Amino acid sequence: MLGIDNNSFIIISAAFGLLCGFLFFSVRVGFPKTIAGLSEWGWACLLMVIAALGFTTRGKLPVLFSSYFPNLLIPFGVIVMHRSLAMFGNLTVSERPLFALLCGASVALGWVTFVVDDYGIRVIIVSALLTVLFGACSVSLTRYHLKRFPEWFTCSMYATTALVMGARCVSALVSGQTLIRENDTSTIHDLYILAFPFSLVAMSLGFLLMANRALQGRLELQALHDPMSGALRRDAFLETVEREIAVSRRYGSPLSLLITDLDNFKAINDTYGHLIGDKVITNFSAQATQLLRAQDVIGRYGGEEFVVLLPQTGIEAALAIANRICTCIAETNAKGVPPYTVSIGAACLNMNNPDLLSLLDAADMALYAAKRAGKNRAIAAPMKPAV
Ligand code: GH3
Ligand code: MG
Ligand code: MG
Repeated sequence: MLGIDNNSFIIISAAFGLLCGFLFFSVRVGFPKTIAGLSEWGWACLLMVIAALGFTTRGKLPVLFSSYFPNLLIPFGVIVMHRSLAMFGNLTVSERPLFALLCGASVALGWVTFVVDDYGIRVIIVSALLTVLFGACSVSLTRYHLKRFPEWFTCSMYATTALVMGARCVSALVSGQTLIRENDTSTIHDLYILAFPFSLVAMSLGFLLMANRALQGRLELQALHDPMSGALRRDAFLETVEREIAVSRRYGSPLSLLITDLDNFKAINDTYGHLIGDKVITNFSAQATQLLRAQDVIGRYGGEEFVVLLPQTGIEAALAIANRICTCIAETNAKGVPPYTVSIGAACLNMNNPDLLSLLDAADMALYAAKRAGKNRAIAAPMKPAV
């Protein structure tokens, strides 16, 4: 092939696999544990390497080690890749059907290797099995964001490899009894052999890009969100409000803002300790988020104060949402969380509060009105009379 003898080609392929495996084991060390499946991918690469080295022992070691095991190790490696992809995407897919297929193939392969010694049928069994396995990986990947390049690229590489394996299987089926190893120099055979190192490198590259993208997403999430409550950080929240105010002005749609402050929180800290205080803050954020709609945004404004952006919402609806939050919080009965209440100030974008600062100011004034009125309530900022 390409002027290189088969064994040298296989050794070069094994070196590619070794490098990919090494790459994934080193990436595993630096990446957070929540990005799963990286070391499994490294193991899959090593299985391919062992299989390739096994093929080079043809004529030196018994056929069990130079053909039978290597032919099964490659599909086993692809199943490990499938697991790795599932772990990465937290997909609930089972490899059982794939293992069942591998078991069936191992029996059939044993028969054509040790009993009838038919190269043609061996090629048909292995390439058909690999078509299904690479195809299964490709199908699993369609459950990811295929609009993103890394996922799309990896999925296409699996699909292309499955196609090459399928073509190899069909060509072996068509050649029937005439297919013998020594005469097997067809283009599809070369393509089949070439597909292994090429697709291993291409898929590894694709998976690495996927992992990198996931890491980037995680870092962005951390940069934008408060780790304790999960709400947006103040700066990110205010940026979102600025954007929504611009949209609201452009389309003339209503927009409201809530400022919430937990009541007597110093006393909660003093009575139960800061750790329980933190739990109360987390509980509030979680409960408030559950009561909000998908388009609403919650941000941590500081300490035990949160801000809520309610796009497409007038002041009456905003007050209704605020009252719902107050009622639910006052009825909290979560384990390890003492009873607590919240006061809320609401304001909407209008001629009195035409921008972010005046909106925040109005909601803040309303909040203090709620505190002065006895806490555990929501109050809307009054509309100032036009002068
Ligand atoms: P009020 O009803 O008037 O709001 O009274 P308050 O006691 O809640 O007063 P204030 O809102 O000023 O109290 C804020 C307290 O929240 C002060 C600070 O010790 C505490 N705090 C701020 N951030 C955190 C935090 O991250 N964790 C905990 N446990 N406490 C915090
Ligand atoms: Mg406060
Ligand atoms: Mg408070």
